[in-house]
Amino acid sequence: MSIEVIKGPNGFCFGVENAVNEIIKRLKKGEKLFTNGEVVHNKNVLEKLKTLGLKYEPEKDAIFVVRAHGLPPEEIERINKNHKIIDLTCPIVNNNFKLGVKLEQEGYRVVAFGKKNHPEMIALSGHVKNSIVTMEPFVVPDDKIAIISQTTSSQEDFFEFVEKMKEKNLGKEIKVINTICKVTVERENAAKQLAKLCNLVIVVGGKNSSNTRKLFQISTKYTRTLHVEGVYELEQELKTPEISEIFKKNNSSTLKIGLISGTSTDSKDVDDVFYYIIENYGGRELCMADLNNISRKELLEEVSSESFEQLLNEYEHMNQVGRGKIVEGVITEISATGLTVDLGGKVTGFVPLEELFKEIHEYKVGDKLRGRVEKINEEDGTAIISEKRPMEKFVLEEISKAKDSGKIIHGKIVERTKGGYKVLLENTVEAFLPGSESNIKEGEELPRGKMQFAVISFEIRGRRPNIVVSRKRLFQRLVDEFYTNRKPGDVVEGIVENVDDKGAIVRIAGITTGFVPNSEVSYNTSTKAKDVINIGKTMKFLIKEINPEKKRLLLSLKALLPDPWENVPKKYQIGQSVTGVVVSVKPFGFFVRLEEGVEGFVPIEEVFWSKKGNLNEVVSV
Ligand code: SF4
Repeated sequence: MSIEVIKGPNGFCFGVENAVNEIIKRLKKGEKLFTNGEVVHNKNVLEKLKTLGLKYEPEKDAIFVVRAHGLPPEEIERINKNHKIIDLTCPIVNNNFKLGVKLEQEGYRVVAFGKKNHPEMIALSGHVKNSIVTMEPFVVPDDKIAIISQTTSSQEDFFEFVEKMKEKNLGKEIKVINTICKVTVERENAAKQLAKLCNLVIVVGGKNSSNTRKLFQISTKYTRTLHVEGVYELEQELKTPEISEIFKKNNSSTLKIGLISGTSTDSKDVDDVFYYIIENYGGRELCMADLNNISRKELLEEVSSESFEQLLNEYEHMNQVGRGKIVEGVITEISATGLTVDLGGKVTGFVPLEELFKEIHEYKVGDKLRGRVEKINEEDGTAIISEKRPMEKFVLEEISKAKDSGKIIHGKIVERTKGGYKVLLENTVEAFLPGSESNIKEGEELPRGKMQFAVISFEIRGRRPNIVVSRKRLFQRLVDEFYTNRKPGDVVEGIVENVDDKGAIVRIAGITTGFVPNSEVSYNTSTKAKDVINIGKTMKFLIKEINPEKKRLLLSLKALLPDPWENVPKKYQIGQSVTGVVVSVKPFGFFVRLEEGVEGFVPIEEVFWSKKGNLNEVVSV
């Protein structure tokens, strides 16, 4: 049996993450904080916050934290009389409040689909004074009705509620705005799809988290589903006969396990569950595509007011630029530390240097860039984006394939480590280059810039890929390939490494060297390599001879020049007078250069009529 684990969306939503991180940061700085309820429905996180000093009762000089659910304005005002306030209301929740206020100002009776005693709904009632919070459809005693929702309601339930409200309020103007947080919708959709795909779904999250429970309910409709708070519970569940049976049933096929979490679950808890399965049962991770196909706008009725539309758009946009989302924007600025990207909707993204997929000089202002939101700063609207993280899986797959296919992988040496070097492959994944495989001599300066590597080992151990690369083996392979594939007559390009009295040494493709003797430099026999070839110059040469065994190359520059003898029969006839320069005098005659590469010979018999004379008295070089 093989196991495939399909990870669905998981981890905190950005509203919760923002609140938790801010509280931790302040507690660590020594600030005294208190709040009025669970910041997140997650035992582990609550325990951590408690250990750091978060209190639930007022204390002298303590700052009050407004949780992601928000608080009625009058409540904030009351607390603010004695305490400073940090408002960590999720921006999506806040926009829901603003939307409600706006609708009320436009004359609508706001009906919020949600639980009356839920903190978010209590807060909404404080902001939208005449709103009605309910989960039961009813006849509204007004003609203009606007239906919104608690951000964490189930979408299915909301649709059902809306239909029933329409039936009960026939003939009235009803505006429906689905204000359920996209994160919640996405997770519900994903839970459904995972459940349809998998033999077993594991929902990770607090037992008191309503959105986690909802995911469990949805998944249970389609497949066997477990709701665990962490690895400790999973271990027990996996020992039960019912779960063992699932493993047995799939003995000869693939057991697909889906993994998903509520918005109050730390992604670390999900990772722990994932690695527990992989380490104990083996298997591999499959990607789950973005399964959210529902457009909130489909549910919107025509909206007349422009400012209302704007508010709505901002609401939509903020919802789409949450942590973990893939976003696209246009580069507006390039600096030494990274790229600034306009994501639209007043949201600016910043991609730090180390999160770029390519070298910074390969980008230009106006280019489009896609990346994943890693963090969002709600105060100034800046989203910290990673371009390379979404590519990680793809790059790892490529590297894994490269080990068998021999494909070259690009990377750069980052630093020396014990026994070798740390290498960053494709700007994304770290690998180890052993010193013995580096082709770098002791004391030699670290090569900078992009280089090519052969992957010689690829293993996923625990959470980290263990990749070993080699320059030496790549080099050997390239040399072998070169001498196997090249033949006399091929033209190659090389960089001149050295020039001396005998000829020139040329480096070809950075992997081998060839020799250009003086006789192969020019048709002009007196021209030497040092007359026309300069060290460091890139030039083309023709391979005259190639010896794969001895890895030797004889190169010619002359062979690439036009052969001056081709025109000789046309240009010179018997009996024609020609003029030339004497280039050498021998005892039996002398040589005359008629043009570059064409020399004629004058035998001594053609110089003197009678007896042989002294040529040096007649001609000289
Ligand atoms: S679920 Fe959505 S609305 Fe609720 S806190 Fe998270 S991001 Fe905000």
